[in-house]
Amino acid sequence: MDRRLFLLGSAAVAASQLPACGGGSGESTAVDGNSIVTAGEDSRARPVTPTPAPTSPKARVIVIGGGMAGATVAKYLRLWGDAIDVTLVERSASYTSCILSSLVLTGQRTMSSLAFNYDKLRTNYGIRTVFEDVVAIDPVAPSVTLASGTRLVADRIVMAPGIDFDPVTGLTDPNAMPHAWKAGPQTTLLTQQLKAMPANGVVVLTVPKAPYRCPPGPYERACLLADWIRVNKPQGKLIVLDANPDFVTEKDNFTRAFIDLHGKVIEYRTNVVIDSVDPGSRTLFTNGGAVRGDVVNLIPAQRAGALVQASGLANATAGRFAAVDVLDYSSTFAPKVHVIGDSSATTQPKAGHIANQEAKVCADALARILAGGSPDPAPVTNSACFSTITMSQASWLHALFQYDAASRSMQPVSAATRASVGWGRESFKDMGTWYQALMADSFA
Ligand SMILES: Cc1cc2nc3c(=O)[nH]c(=O)nc-3n(C[C@H](O)[C@H](O)[C@H](O)COP(=O)(O)OP(=O)(O)OC[C@H]3O[C@@H](n4cnc5c(N)ncnc54)[C@H](O)[C@@H]3O)c2cc1C
Repeated sequence: MDRRLFLLGSAAVAASQLPACGGGSGESTAVDGNSIVTAGEDSRARPVTPTPAPTSPKARVIVIGGGMAGATVAKYLRLWGDAIDVTLVERSASYTSCILSSLVLTGQRTMSSLAFNYDKLRTNYGIRTVFEDVVAIDPVAPSVTLASGTRLVADRIVMAPGIDFDPVTGLTDPNAMPHAWKAGPQTTLLTQQLKAMPANGVVVLTVPKAPYRCPPGPYERACLLADWIRVNKPQGKLIVLDANPDFVTEKDNFTRAFIDLHGKVIEYRTNVVIDSVDPGSRTLFTNGGAVRGDVVNLIPAQRAGALVQASGLANATAGRFAAVDVLDYSSTFAPKVHVIGDSSATTQPKAGHIANQEAKVCADALARILAGGSPDPAPVTNSACFSTITMSQASWLHALFQYDAASRSMQPVSAATRASVGWGRESFKDMGTWYQALMADSFA
């Protein structure tokens, strides 16, 4: 049996036997010798320690960023790493998932339903968590400097800081034209702006030049908003300004949805370059003239998280993302630093499901390397993706990627890559099930 499948099976059994730790108290965790004691827990209760933090670790790994990629790699390093000491440094004690966050805009989800904490990673797996900003790393003799000035030393660093945005000329107040492309306060703000818009209001949504986070994301948000506008702002309109020449993905379904289903609401323009903006009048100045909206959802062009840039690791995609060896996700600039998730430049999409998969390949490779071995020479990743086409129907796309030794890249396996023909209510339901499973795999 494949080692990772076998170990995933055992971990699932161990996790299911956790009576006390599973719930997560939100309180701080002390690592105490061979057992984990959570502050506030009944000290007479038998400590449940499926994977205790090691007393004499074989190796130390620091993970930077506790999102889809970082949380997953921390968990699986502890499950597969045989006593690797794992410290996860994340700037916020609570993670808000971008996945499904466009449903907040339509009032179908709350922000709290997208919030996850790190209690289970601490209590179930013995991961140390530090909630601080990392301000610098030493990529050669691996160490991490925190905003407080504390320096943490490791054998390897895994960087998973997600994305940051290009500045937009004239956008002095980012809240005037929120991107809501990192779920958080801007998601709430955009929701309020949409609600307050007049019944004949115009929403402008911009699609950045690829590669960007979640290729179908802007189109699925457009479809969702078009359906919401039809119901809630009956004379309203949605102008989609795409920096790309065509739909970046799922062309068949999005073409049909934009033209046939939402044609009365959506106006779609391609190859649009935004030169500058005037936040006061909510106007975008483009190569095709000025476009004004009552609400502007401006999603700027993207690059790897600022720390990747500042550390000199963004050496691919014209200096935007980090080139990595996809056998272990080591940076081609600094081999003891691994970059996973949206910050890395690979042939796979920048998506949460893929971030989870890259994290597992990286964890497995590091476990082998730190035990004196070599990474799996033939990794496989997969991604399921659901796109909301209306407020109650979704399409789906499934892709499988396999390592290609000749190009040293992950290549799609066409026989295992499929998209739905059209959309339906059943897929919308499946989307919820898939989401629960993915988030549990990353955070619990
Ligand atoms: C609207 C929307 C819908 C989406 N829908 C889907 C979907 O249906 N399916 C799918 O697969 N993907 C989807 N995605 C994409 C998915 O959210 C991202 O691809 C995924 O979050 C990437 O994971 P990551 O770990 O690289 O980055 P993130 O999840 O963003 O995590 C990065 C973490 O690093 C932390 N961090 C950054 N810098 C530092 C620092 N210096 N110090 C400490 N911490 C730091 C941040 O606080 C953050 O928690 C969607 C995205 C959006 C915007």
